[in-house]
Amino acid sequence: MKFFFPDSQDQIDPGFDFATEEHPALRVRQRDDLYAHEALDGHVIDGLLVSRAIVDGTASGAGKYTAAQRNRMYRVGVRHFFRLDQAPGPPIQTMGDCGAFSYIQEDEPPVTPDQVIDFYAECGFDLGISVDHVIFGFDPAADTDPQHSQGKQWRYRQQITLDLAAKFLARCKDRKVRFEPLGVAQGWSPASYAAAVRSLQEIGYTRIALGGMVPLKTGEILACLREISAARDPGTQLHLLGVTRRSNIAEFTSYGVTSFDSTSAFRQAFKDDKDNYHTADRTYTAIRVPQVDGLPRLKRQILAGQVDQGTAVQRERACLRALQEYNAGEASIRQVMDALQRYNEITGLKGCEESCRDILANVPWKSCPCSICTKVGINVVLFRGSERNKRRGFHNLYVFRQRLDRELDARSVV
Ligand SMILES: [Zn+2]
Repeated sequence: MKFFFPDSQDQIDPGFDFATEEHPALRVRQRDDLYAHEALDGHVIDGLLVSRAIVDGTASGAGKYTAAQRNRMYRVGVRHFFRLDQAPGPPIQTMGDCGAFSYIQEDEPPVTPDQVIDFYAECGFDLGISVDHVIFGFDPAADTDPQHSQGKQWRYRQQITLDLAAKFLARCKDRKVRFEPLGVAQGWSPASYAAAVRSLQEIGYTRIALGGMVPLKTGEILACLREISAARDPGTQLHLLGVTRRSNIAEFTSYGVTSFDSTSAFRQAFKDDKDNYHTADRTYTAIRVPQVDGLPRLKRQILAGQVDQGTAVQRERACLRALQEYNAGEASIRQVMDALQRYNEITGLKGCEESCRDILANVPWKSCPCSICTKVGINVVLFRGSERNKRRGFHNLYVFRQRLDRELDARSVV
């Protein structure tokens, strides 16, 4: 089971100074900043999923790459761009997709098979996913109800996806591409997914990505996989697009799933309200110490003269100092909590007392062997700025890998 990590140009600066909160004067992002597979020691990801919409941008401007980054990606290729060959562990595979979420609102995909083939071939991907159109909805009733409110649109999107998959594969053959093409199955029910997989196999695909399953419940995903397995040729491999369900991953293998991609462990570090810092058996809430100038409401209050900027900055620094002292065994939890409380009177943050006490009392970062926690200590559990938040995301990836391996091992033992 291969784990692909979707790229969103998430990097950390190894030279960032947590005491002064400054980057080195001579930092060159492209050269110095590290991707997850570089910042973490050992084998964490099996593959990188890169979306054309993120690299090339879209009409609505969804791209994450600067023009210089994009040019560099095309010039040196995906392996060199991400320095994949220097990463520890088995070779990291590269998979490209067209970024169907960026045009989910449109009637038809705004990209042609040849345009995505250009992207995959020029950047030198190992695997390339055909152009698809996401069906956002799940209702098996649409299989038999001709009056179903969404049924017509769902069928239309599935047909477009299959037509484009046929064109994509034909063009891949004409152009003698070196990457392995994947077809995409979109559906709204177990039967419709199975029908899409059957059609894709008839077109000639032996590797199929299952799209649109992100919002589905685990039971619905399993129902689809069961139905698909009746249609699946023994040699056909499945990829789950954007589906995590770590505790079910081992079970998915029995249905022919050989790879999946997910950002959720990484993103929970700074997107989730509670589950920010993961460990082998539980999650913790990170300690919020926002920057004074990072809170729009506080900034407005300072400008309006309602809050004294000097006091705000002083209290913010007192929190950081107390946390560092606690980490060094020179302050008590009580002292840290007092500092946080004084700062929160200004920031207005509420309801974090219990979760702060919990993570401080358990010091989970002290027992984590990952290269992030061992290097930056307590900073990894502070919810504050991209350097700390992304490090916590990388730590979560490390934990995700450990848990995934444990579950896969347990499965093969049984
Ligand atoms: Zn760690």
